[in-house]
Amino acid sequence: MKIKHLSKTYKTKYEVVNALEDIHLHLPEKGMVFIVGVSGSGKTTLMNMLSGVDIPSSGEVIIGDKSLYKGPKKDLFGYRNSYVGLIFQDYNLIEDLNVYDNIKLPLDFINQTNYEIIDEVIKKVDIEEIKYSKVNEISSGQMQRVAIARALVKDSGMILADEPTGNLDSKNEKIVFDLLKEISKDRLVVVITHDEDSAKLYSDR
Ligand code: ADP
Ligand code: MG
Repeated sequence: MKIKHLSKTYKTKYEVVNALEDIHLHLPEKGMVFIVGVSGSGKTTLMNMLSGVDIPSSGEVIIGDKSLYKGPKKDLFGYRNSYVGLIFQDYNLIEDLNVYDNIKLPLDFINQTNYEIIDEVIKKVDIEEIKYSKVNEISSGQMQRVAIARALVKDSGMILADEPTGNLDSKNEKIVFDLLKEISKDRLVVVITHDEDSAKLYSDR
């Protein structure tokens, strides 16, 4: 993935915020890359540009030989639904669904009915014992593992995690980072954080 001359300006009623200005970045096909910066420095904005959640004001995101924001809109939806797995600080799980159905959700979006993968990722993140639990019955460390499983289930090429350990204690933080590190052996994991110590400990870059 190549990011070229990427800028994002937010215009509100009262002010203009240059959240990103002329960003250049080459990301490898696998490994663990940390993007570190203080609060308000534009990390989430950058994540939204990489994941196709929001559109840059100028510049390009190039994957292979395709420019993400120059093609038809439906390509962008396709990219978002199949290429990127997103993980958030507050997990973004659906409370009315149990663990299994939360993980299944991305497959429903792309009409994939091969559900064997769900049990594989459940095993991988070690949450077999809570497979049919409701989301509000499990701990925050378990919730983040469910969110990771959900990001993995599409077999996406890139996992983007925005402050994935922000709400976790140090024990669960280690579990989550060890898991993301393992995952980064065969795909790209981009972790956004303000925690420089974890970045030093876990990052390839
Ligand atoms: P970080 O994730 O590093 O904390 P953000 O990307 O959320 O930073 O924000 C970068 C800057 O852009 C901040 O000054 C923030 O206030 C501003 N910003 C973010 N989203 C919006 C928005 N939707 N409208 C206006 N300003 C925004
Ligand atoms: Mg943020």
